Amino acid sequence: MTSNQSLEFDSIIVGAGFAGLYQLLRLRRAGFSARVIEAGDNVGGTWYWNRYPGARCDIESLQYQYGFDPDLAREWRWTERYATQPEILRYIEFVADRYDLRRDIQFSTRVTAAHYDDASARWTVHTDRGDAYTCRWLIMATGCLSVPKTPEVPGIDAFEGESYHTGAWPHEGVDFTGKRVAVIGTGSSAIQSIPIIARQAEHLTVFQRTPNFSVPAHNYLLDESQWQEVAARIAELRAEARTTSAGILGIELNDVSALAVSEEERRREFERRWAIGGFAIGGAFNDVAINLDANETAAEFVRSKIREIVQDPETAEALCPRDYPFGTKRLCVDIAYYETFNRPNVKLVSIRDNPIAEITPKGLRLQDGTEFEFDAIVYATGFDAMTGALLRIDIRGRNGLALRDKWEHGPRTYLGLQVAGFPNMFTITGPGSPSVLSNMLVSIEQHVDWVTDCLEYLRERDLAVIEAAPAAEDAWVDHVNQVADLTLYPRANSWYIGANVPGKPRVFMPYIGGVGLYAQKCAEVAANGYEGFLLSPEPALSR
Ligand code: FAD
Ligand code: NAP
Repeated sequence: MTSNQSLEFDSIIVGAGFAGLYQLLRLRRAGFSARVIEAGDNVGGTWYWNRYPGARCDIESLQYQYGFDPDLAREWRWTERYATQPEILRYIEFVADRYDLRRDIQFSTRVTAAHYDDASARWTVHTDRGDAYTCRWLIMATGCLSVPKTPEVPGIDAFEGESYHTGAWPHEGVDFTGKRVAVIGTGSSAIQSIPIIARQAEHLTVFQRTPNFSVPAHNYLLDESQWQEVAARIAELRAEARTTSAGILGIELNDVSALAVSEEERRREFERRWAIGGFAIGGAFNDVAINLDANETAAEFVRSKIREIVQDPETAEALCPRDYPFGTKRLCVDIAYYETFNRPNVKLVSIRDNPIAEITPKGLRLQDGTEFEFDAIVYATGFDAMTGALLRIDIRGRNGLALRDKWEHGPRTYLGLQVAGFPNMFTITGPGSPSVLSNMLVSIEQHVDWVTDCLEYLRERDLAVIEAAPAAEDAWVDHVNQVADLTLYPRANSWYIGANVPGKPRVFMPYIGGVGLYAQKCAEVAANGYEGFLLSPEPALSR
């Protein structure tokens, strides 16, 4: 559809997930005109697209919510420890209605290009409807996990059955009753959906390339008092979360080396945290993320749990992760994942040394020639994470510099907020910020607040251009890499490092220094007059 409108705003926000919606609200309240452009036909982002069975948050609902408005927290009642996708989506829709956000959102519209004009210090934003918006401030709230990735295997389009990607699930749902189903992948999306699909399907075959570490959710219904207590203290709790390492409260950190205690004590501590469920195990000892021997104790504990739960010893061994340290790929939080492999209608096929060679019209074929037939294939194969959504847009900064060229060897940002050479463009939870290593709601609010405060600061001083200084960006990129190298994280072939996308530069993308230290650094930068950024007035005025 082409409308050829020319539309002028102070700011354009791309994306109507948690980040875009809060950014819209903050800018509107600060008196900036703003338009959100969203590819989907409604709000929700991640929770609009990922409607696969079993989808839930892995950060507890009471923390995986906005914290900026105590009234909102009082008005919305979460029902479970880990909310389901439909409940989270209802919450986001409630937020959009409550603050009347939809009137400033252009739905079903994809941003295809954004070009900066030096002379006017403005961006022109092009869409797939033929619109050309102009704005001073371009805010990319495009999501870190919003570009689903299917495997580079021939024949995907030739499959005659039903094909689904967890990250683009049909809105009307899928009924697998009586069907032979394949799930490809064993990351968080697979681990959540496999138990539910197994209960429905006649037969389920899980194709696993790399086993993942998963911990039980021990999900439960929240009672009135738990919810009310958080609602009453939401602002205080959110402020506290911003001082923690992952933006998560309630994970008691045991400041002791895993190697400094006896085997019995270690086991007791891991058992205690396994019983709590969720990410509690992450705080068991202080050196699991940095010392390989300490890490191995956690890894072996989870393997022992897998062997306890899964009855068939061969399947149990195949499910045990061995070739990367515990926690260096996103830890999965499950409801009866390992137990599912005790069902007679579920089979695990390891494709580690025998990859999928081809998707055939009837199913798939492995490299050794083994053939399988299916009625449906579920691709739980992840995302082109962190940079994917940004690089799909033809973004051109100063002097026509393309973001694709600038990031040819991996993303480079200052604080994950701006890219040198791309004035007036901000990335919410961009690479180089804690982002996906944190409770995203905490990181999103911290970024949106910082950006809004920054724009108010510039307006008060009649400044029209802000751009990361190249030297500040270089120093930040070095720091992000140095901190990552102090940990075991870069040892895993994870999506954090781009390893899941062939040809993607191998760079550890999020900042692992912690939400608390990071937020403090951002606040200091602002307090020092936006140190490391170059600020200037309207180009016409400075001539
Ligand atoms: P998104 O929600 O991804 O929204 C980005 C929006 O931008 C999308 O709607 C997309 O359509 C739109 N967009 C992108 N490009 C364009 C374009 N060119 N033009 C127009 N629109 C565009 N994080 C946690 O902290 N805890 C969790 O429990 C958790 N669970 C998750 C579960 C799943 C299944 C997934 C995939 C991710 C999960 N995450 C979780 C991460 C999650 O992505 C964030 O928590 C959060 O929802 C991100 O919000 P966002 O607004 O930044 O991005
Ligand atoms: P993912 O973690 O990247 O997992 C993708 C899976 O597909 C991996 O097991 C991967 O194997 C496999 N795979 C990819 N390409 C393949 C191929 N060609 N052949 C065989 N297997 C292939 O993706 P995800 O599960 O969608 O999760 C992504 C992130 O989203 C999570 O890490 C998390 O941050 C978030 N998320 C959170 C939740 C939650 O619990 N709230 C749920 C879903 C997602 P390899 O490991 O070998 O590459």
